[in-house]
Amino acid sequence: MQKAAVLSKLKEYPVVKEIEEEQLRENEVLIEQSETGICFRDILTMEGFLPRVVLPIVPGHEISGVVKKVGSNVKKFKEGDRVASLIYVPCGTCEYCTTGRENLCRNKKTFGESINGAYRKYVHVPEISLVEVPPKVSPEAATISACVTGMVVQALEVVGGLREGNSVLITGAGGGVGSHAVQIAKALGAKQVIAETSSEWKKEGILRVGADFVVGGQDYTKKVKEITGDGVDVALETVGSPTFNDAFRSLKFGGRLVVIGNVDVNPVSLPLGNLILKGNSIAGSVSSTKKSMTKALKLSNEGKIIPVVGKVFSLDQVGEAYKAMKNKELFGKAYIKL
Ligand SMILES: [Zn+2]
Ligand SMILES: [Zn+2]
Repeated sequence: MQKAAVLSKLKEYPVVKEIEEEQLRENEVLIEQSETGICFRDILTMEGFLPRVVLPIVPGHEISGVVKKVGSNVKKFKEGDRVASLIYVPCGTCEYCTTGRENLCRNKKTFGESINGAYRKYVHVPEISLVEVPPKVSPEAATISACVTGMVVQALEVVGGLREGNSVLITGAGGGVGSHAVQIAKALGAKQVIAETSSEWKKEGILRVGADFVVGGQDYTKKVKEITGDGVDVALETVGSPTFNDAFRSLKFGGRLVVIGNVDVNPVSLPLGNLILKGNSIAGSVSSTKKSMTKALKLSNEGKIIPVVGKVFSLDQVGEAYKAMKNKELFGKAYIKL
C-alpha cells in the first residue's frame, strides 16, 4: 500500500488515500520520486476538459526519480539510475513512434488520465517512456523535463524553428511554463526575449529569469513592435484565447506562432488576410519527444535552465495547490513533495 492523491469525480479535488501496490511488469521500471510537478493540465483534467480520462485515477504526469527495481525485460536501466519519463507511454510501433514523433502517437496512454500518474512516491513506468538524467540536473529540473522544459524545446526549436539571433515573444511568461520558456528561448540563442504577463507583480521575477522586456495589458502588440521594429520571429502562446490575437499580430513577416496553451478552452478568430500576406505560420505543439526531453535535460545540466519553484506543497495540500494554480497566485512552477 502507498499514499496517493486520487481523482474519483470530475470537478472535485483529488483526495489522498491508500492505494494497492501494482505488480511490476517485465518491461517496467519502479521509480522512487522525491517530488512531482502540478500542471495546468491536471486542473483541466479535473474540470473534465480532457478526453479519455478514466476514473478513479491518480493524477499527475511529471515523473522522475531513482530506479528502485527493474522488470526482467528492461534493457537500458538498472537500480540506482536517475530517470525522467515522458508524460505518456507511446505504442512504439506506429508511423509516428517509428519516425521520432512519438508525441503524436494515437495509441499513447497518458499518465494521470488513462493510466495512474505521478501523485505518489512510487510509480511504475514502461522503459519506452524513460530517458536518463545527467548528473548535474537537480531533481526539480528532472521532474519538469518532459512536460515543461522538453515541451518548450519541442515547441520553440522543433516546431517553431527558433534559430540563433531570433526575436521571441512568450505569452503567460509568469506561469510554470512561461517562466522556463523565457530561459529556454535564451539558451537556444534568441537575441531578444519579450515576455508577456497580465500580472503586474510577476514582472520583476520574469526579468530576473532572463527576459529582455516585459509587456502586458491590452494591445501589447504595439509595445512589441516598438521594441523589435517589425515584430518577432517566433511567438510562443502558452495562454490561449486571451492573448492569441495580440501574439499573432506581433509576428513579423514570415514569423511563426506556436500554440501550446489553452487555459480557457475558448475558440479564437483569425484574420486570414494577414496570415496570407505576411506569410505567417501557426502551429500547435503537443508535449515532448524523448529527443526534446534529452535536449532540455542537457540545457539543465549546463546550468542554462534553472527551475522556477513557485511553491512546494505536501500531498495532503493538493486541493490548496490546485486553487493556487487556478487563481494564478504563483510565479513559476508548483511542486508536490513526496
Ligand atoms: Zn504537465
Ligand atoms: Zn505510436
